[in-house]
Amino acid sequence: MNSNYPIMVVDDDIISRTVVQKHLLKKGFEVNTAANGSEALQLFDKKFFPIILTDWMMPEIDGPQLCRLIREKKTDGYVFILLITARDSKTDIVSGLESGADDYLTKPIHPAEMVARIKTGVRILELEHSLKKATEEIRVLSITDPLTGCFNRGYLNTHFPQELNRAVRYSQPLSVILADIDHFKKVNDTYGHQVGDVVLKEFAQCIHEQLRKKIDWVVRYGGEEFLIVLPETKSLGAYSMAERLRATVAEREIRVGDVSINITASFGGACVGFENKNAFGITMDKLVGLADKKLYESKDKGRDQVTISECSMAGEIANQP
Ligand code: GH3
Ligand code: MG
Ligand code: MG
Repeated sequence: MNSNYPIMVVDDDIISRTVVQKHLLKKGFEVNTAANGSEALQLFDKKFFPIILTDWMMPEIDGPQLCRLIREKKTDGYVFILLITARDSKTDIVSGLESGADDYLTKPIHPAEMVARIKTGVRILELEHSLKKATEEIRVLSITDPLTGCFNRGYLNTHFPQELNRAVRYSQPLSVILADIDHFKKVNDTYGHQVGDVVLKEFAQCIHEQLRKKIDWVVRYGGEEFLIVLPETKSLGAYSMAERLRATVAEREIRVGDVSINITASFGGACVGFENKNAFGITMDKLVGLADKKLYESKDKGRDQVTISECSMAGEIANQP
């Protein structure tokens, strides 16, 4: 049995509390105790307990009341609560379970029965854990481009407005860079689509290497076009990042089996400042549109180039055609 779930034992009677604690420690559980309801709540606020064994009869906050108070809390996960009771009439049991307890134990406690009921709780907690893991995996898949591991357009559409709001709230600049592989069609035509895929992955890897962790992020915007989002970054910062990336890409030799491929990429960037905490109707489309214009300037100038717009105020970009 997985005994990695810390248990809190709540009982005002020191002897019962200690007996239960000893049994559970012997079974390899981590156990903390509380002598009454308020002590239990204080302890619970400091540390999360996924399993709670609580006595019913306690002064002030009794077992059922403690159950209700724990259920009202926003917790990190499910809390399995076992109510320990000397009352075994059906109405008492029903009211105990209605207070939010998952199960009950009658006094005097039978140690093997107690462990068996805790095992039921552990099964529920493990089910919750695997459900959470699966949900997280699905969430990650739903926002990720499977080939390159970059975020996808869906993520951009939900996350970019939040990034804009944050920039406005803290009067911070925000830059975006569009990066597009030069003559990528030729790579596919010469070496085949699968080699093209490897080149795309490698290009995405070059981008990831240049990002500030947990600050910058990148989206696969189109086939061989990537949008890099640089919060708290002015045009000069965006330019140096893109220029470093351009040089890295141009220098990197991409080996696929026996072939060795060199690529270049072109970059277009746009930067906006929100000095007056005013967004003036700036949108993602306007900012990315400006970066796209600059990308085409880089392509026109002969590719393997970086062109970034000056850092403009939100109003200036919003008023653009
Ligand atoms: P430019 O320098 O003007 O950007 O030229 P380009 O050839 O890079 O641009 P173009 O838009 O003409 O071609 C992009 C190519 O990217 C065409 C398309 O087949 C290819 N492509 C798009 N998605 C993928 C993919 O997932 N894998 C592979 N291998 N190729 C892709
Ligand atoms: Mg291209
Ligand atoms: Mg393209």
